[in-house]
Amino acid sequence: MTPKLDAFNRIVVKVGSSSLVDHAAGRVKTAWLQALVEDLAALHRRGADVMVVSSGAIALGRSLLGLPLGTLKLEDSQAAAAVGQIELARIWAKVLGSHSIKAGQILVTLGDTEERRRYLNARATLARLLEMRAVPVINENDTVATSEIRYGDNDRLAARVATMASADLLILLSDITGLYTAPPQSDPNAKLLPVVARINAEIEAMAGGATSIYSRGGMRTKIEAAKIATAGGAHMVIADGRVLNPVARIAAGEPCTWFLTPSNPVTARKKWIAGSLEPRGTLHIDAGAMRALQAGKSLLPAGVTRVEGQFSRGDCVLIRTIDGSEIGRGLIAYDSDGASALAGRRSQDIEALLGAPGRAEMIHRDDMIFSGE
Ligand code: GLU
Repeated sequence: MTPKLDAFNRIVVKVGSSSLVDHAAGRVKTAWLQALVEDLAALHRRGADVMVVSSGAIALGRSLLGLPLGTLKLEDSQAAAAVGQIELARIWAKVLGSHSIKAGQILVTLGDTEERRRYLNARATLARLLEMRAVPVINENDTVATSEIRYGDNDRLAARVATMASADLLILLSDITGLYTAPPQSDPNAKLLPVVARINAEIEAMAGGATSIYSRGGMRTKIEAAKIATAGGAHMVIADGRVLNPVARIAAGEPCTWFLTPSNPVTARKKWIAGSLEPRGTLHIDAGAMRALQAGKSLLPAGVTRVEGQFSRGDCVLIRTIDGSEIGRGLIAYDSDGASALAGRRSQDIEALLGAPGRAEMIHRDDMIFSGE
């Protein structure tokens, strides 16, 4: 059985140049992008955090600069990226803006995701943007990344971003429907694999070795991406990005390949909550909320009697009972001001109290460790 898209709350969508850029015309495929952004806006409206990893800077810049076809020298591709990235960011900001969504550009190099201090910094910026309900639009900083410090492909970059942001789903949109058992162009018996539960040698072999042909090119980096994402607790989907509304089509059950994380994302997230976070505040809850938590439910604002500490949305906070004992911890859906304003109030009143719609739960069950669980 494949997972349902509705089940995911933090989603990274990687858009390949082949989906986004009309290479012959050297322009963004505007109608395609508008349709994709409709899908993203729908996820965003239902409360999901959405991040985009977008390629296309070099392809766009090369056409804007009138560079010839064929392989570019490193300095020419960096110049192309410099020119193209501005255009890319402008277009994303405009199309997301047409749905009243703010875009935030983040350009990263390999070092930013591999070196701990920079990693934490990049993670904090992402978290803050998501808290503000902006959509980060991420690309490699191609203008400064030289071959030794480059990802070179946005598949693995997107997977690192997904784990860095504790995403529960990574969607790779590209020019292939998914992973096939053999090259689909040359082998009539090639079958699309709907689900890969575990990446083993057989799966890696399907991604193609020396014999791989151009149209399956890139499958190797997608498998590498799948390894990174699934090890970090995120599921990953490879889906056809050549069609309109590609994300809605995944939701509708159109053919694609799901790579499942062995630790389900909730478990991975819970381990992470239990182990690695510094709690930033405390919520005191009443007896009714305690019973709800014991029954496996989420923590609603109505059961919160007092809020302590200064925290942001997504921070880890402690949950204490009336007698002060700690009974759990979790990632809170509101910042400290919002949480204080909502404490003791009904979820239906959130919009009236905050002036904007918000999540019904103060801490969602999936984001919570409850002692006795
Ligand atoms: N960062 C490159 C660009 O924006 C794309 C890398 C890739 O396509 O994977 O042009």
